[in-house]
Amino acid sequence: MSRGTLFIVSAPSGAGKTSLVSRLLEAREDLVVSVSHTTRAPRPGEEDGRHYHFTDAERFLSMIEDGAFLEHARVFDHYYGTSREAVERELARGLDVILEIDWQGAQQVRKLMPGCQSIFIVPPSRQALEERLRGRGQDSDAVIERRLREAVKEIEHHVEYEFLVVNDDFEQAFTDLQAIFTANRLRLRHQLDRNRRLLEDLLASGPSRP
Ligand code: GDP
Ligand code: ADP
Ligand code: 5GP
Repeated sequence: MSRGTLFIVSAPSGAGKTSLVSRLLEAREDLVVSVSHTTRAPRPGEEDGRHYHFTDAERFLSMIEDGAFLEHARVFDHYYGTSREAVERELARGLDVILEIDWQGAQQVRKLMPGCQSIFIVPPSRQALEERLRGRGQDSDAVIERRLREAVKEIEHHVEYEFLVVNDDFEQAFTDLQAIFTANRLRLRHQLDRNRRLLEDLLASGPSRP
C-alpha cells in the first residue's frame, strides 16, 4: 500500500478550518487529523485526546527535549505541537493526515516533509472573521481582540501555500477542499496501487475478447 500524503491546513483563527476539517473527516475514510498537544486551557466542550492533548508547559518542554514533536510553535502565548510518532504511524498505514497548524509550524514541516501539500483558508471579509470569532462564543473579548490582531500576520503567509480556499459559503468551501484531496488520490502512485490488476490485464498481449 502506498504511503498517505501529509496535508497542512492553516487559517487565521475563526476562518472555519476546524469546522471544514471535521466535515471532511465525516466524508472521507482515507483521512485522519493529527491531534495536537497544547498548553492552552480547554474550551467548553473540548475533550482531551479528541480536540487536543491538553498538557502543562513543563511536560510540553520535556517533550521538546525528547524530540517528540515533528514541529512546535508558540501561538497566542501558548505552545502547540504535532506528535511525530502519531503522524508517521498514520502515513505508514496509507492514510492522508491533516495538520491544523499555524504558519510557523507549516514552515518547519515543509522542510522536514518535502512531499507535503499545504492549504490556506481565508474568510470572505474581515467583518465575517470577527463575527465568526464572536459568534463561536467560546473565547473572552480579550482573546478575540488578540486573535483579530494576529490574523493579519497569519494571512501575510498565504503565498507560501499551494492552495487557497475562501470559506464564504460553507458547502462551496467544503466542495473545493474535497477536490484537492480527491485529485491527490488520483495521482499515479496511488492509482497504480489500486489498479494493478486492471493495468496488467490491459497490457497483457493477445487478442482482446469480444
Ligand atoms: P472549534 O471551536 O475551533 O473546535 O470549532 P468547530 O469546528 O467545533 O466548529 C464550531 C461550530 O460551528 C460547530 O458547532 C459546528 O457545527 C458549527 N458549524 C459548522 N458548519 C457551519 C456553517 O456553515 N455555518 C455556521 N454558522 N456554523 C457551522
Ligand atoms: P477555526 O478552527 O479556523 O478557528 P472554526 O471552525 O471554529 O474556525 O469556525 C469559527 C466559527 O465560524 C464557528 O462558529 C463556525 O461555526 C463558523 N463558520 C465556519 N465556517 C462558516 C461559514 N462558511 N459561514 C458562516 N460561519 C462559519
Ligand atoms: P486554537 O487555540 O484556536 O485551537 O488554535 C490557535 C492556533 O494554533 C491556530 O492558528 C492553529 O492553527 C494553531 N495550532 C494548533 N495546533 C497546532 C500545532 O500542533 N502546531 C502549530 N504550529 N500550530 C498549531
